[in-house]
Amino acid sequence: MSKGGPVVGVLALQGDFREHIAVLASLGADARPVRRPEELDQVAGLVIPGGESSVMDKLSRAFGLAQPLKDAIGAGLPVYGTCAGLIMLADRVLDAINGQQSLGGLRIAVRRNAFGSQLDSFETDLDIPVLGEAPMHAVFIRAPVVEEVRDGVTALATLTDGRVVAVEQGNLLGTSFHPEMTGDTRFHEYFLGKVRAAS
Ligand code: GLN
Repeated sequence: MSKGGPVVGVLALQGDFREHIAVLASLGADARPVRRPEELDQVAGLVIPGGESSVMDKLSRAFGLAQPLKDAIGAGLPVYGTCAGLIMLADRVLDAINGQQSLGGLRIAVRRNAFGSQLDSFETDLDIPVLGEAPMHAVFIRAPVVEEVRDGVTALATLTDGRVVAVEQGNLLGTSFHPEMTGDTRFHEYFLGKVRAAS
């Protein structure tokens, strides 16, 4: 805890990890990129960023990080996945590419690219009661949706059509959208609360 805040890693194999590091640092965390198992050992929490889940999967296996990540998730490390990160955390991935694996941990099924090519990206305001009364502006980019939620998983936010786009299960948190892009830091603060409570 060199800067006084908790040491929080951001998986930095691919995707928008820099944005997460900037938000976490602005909230007082000692935020660091994680690319190696030794770096994972030092963190009290981990963010898995947005990007491309199939690439992140391949790189995490190639770099020998997939098993350490699974072990850390199983041991209760607080982990927050956004978009591709949510896919990485899901026990089941629908519309995965051939051979694509996830780390798992969240007892959910997610569908990749659930909004199709006609609606590649969009923005909307979401009510997220755990974050307070003000709605959160949410940016979706080739985003997944949660299609199945099992025991112990709480849906934190849904679209107006009822589709689930944010979930929590114990120390795991996931969003289909990208709070690191909008300047609304409440999801990251909520996650840091979990990290502090766990450490
Ligand atoms: N479609 C991407 C995937 O399958 C996720 C997109 C994102 O993270 N913005 O991994």
